[in-house]
Amino acid sequence: MFATLSDRLTSTFKNLRTKGRLSEADIDATVREIRRALLDADVAVPVVRSFTGAVRERALSAEVSGALNPAQQVVKIVNEELVAILGGQTRTLNLAKNPPTVILLAGLQGAGKTTLAGKLALHLKGQGHTPLLVAADLQRPNAVTQLQVVGERAGVPVFAPHPGNQGSEDLLPFGADPVAVAREGLATAKTKLHDVLIVDTAGRLGVDAELMQQASDIRDALDPDEILFVIDAMIGQDAVTTAQAFADGVGFTGVVLSKLDGDARGGAALSVASVTGKPIMYASTGEKLTEFEVFHPDRMASRILD
Ligand code: GDP
Repeated sequence: MFATLSDRLTSTFKNLRTKGRLSEADIDATVREIRRALLDADVAVPVVRSFTGAVRERALSAEVSGALNPAQQVVKIVNEELVAILGGQTRTLNLAKNPPTVILLAGLQGAGKTTLAGKLALHLKGQGHTPLLVAADLQRPNAVTQLQVVGERAGVPVFAPHPGNQGSEDLLPFGADPVAVAREGLATAKTKLHDVLIVDTAGRLGVDAELMQQASDIRDALDPDEILFVIDAMIGQDAVTTAQAFADGVGFTGVVLSKLDGDARGGAALSVASVTGKPIMYASTGEKLTEFEVFHPDRMASRILD
């Protein structure tokens, strides 16, 4: 991911290195190249506009003109602005004062929520937490079973409406009501002393009102400490509109970028934090449960400019 963007930016800066001082025309040419690289990488247009505006303004200021090595200064500015659009500081999980901490996962079908549930559970278990996974995705055949498989792999228990036998109609004892399942999951976490509850919810292939309503109902029933919006980094420009729809429809506290191991352009995913004002908290980088990382905006920016 981001390999092309990284190459383009690096070669832009290489051209600058041969220059002693930078004229306004040099800076404008550089900013134009940065703009093209970002647009070609699918970064959302408003994000590109504010990003290049900030870079140009700072580059034209004394920061660069008085510097001994102007090229390095420009790289530094681009780096800082990249960190800013990626959310600034690393944001850690908001843990409840009175456990359990409730984490709700939202996103489109196929975004990687169920996989992420297992990854996050494993990660938190490694930190000494005692998570419980809740299967509140009752739309998709096999979603419950899939979470059970993931839970087993992570060594984390799963609260499910009906162990196994997903194909049957009797999702007893809670019927097919994901809100009831989520509530019972929370009650179970309290009685069995799980300090974190991770709730997998249903997705649809596209944004729709029923999906938003269901996620909102679960949110209202649980009053979560975190709502993580999981977004497939490979879906391109749709990432921004989807994120905005979830921000308006359900609301979320943080973003998880999934499938960052793919070779897509990925710039839209880079826009999500900036467009929604919510930080990227985790990145999913493969199908294995260990292919997961806490997202550090500064490290991602350095990786892109490496
Ligand atoms: P959900 O519908 O949102 O619950 O999505 P799933 O967790 O079922 O993921 C959908 C597909 O994407 C599955 O085949 C996963 O194995 C795959 N997947 C999930 N996360 C990643 C990732 O970070 N990288 C890759 N390459 N595949 C992933």
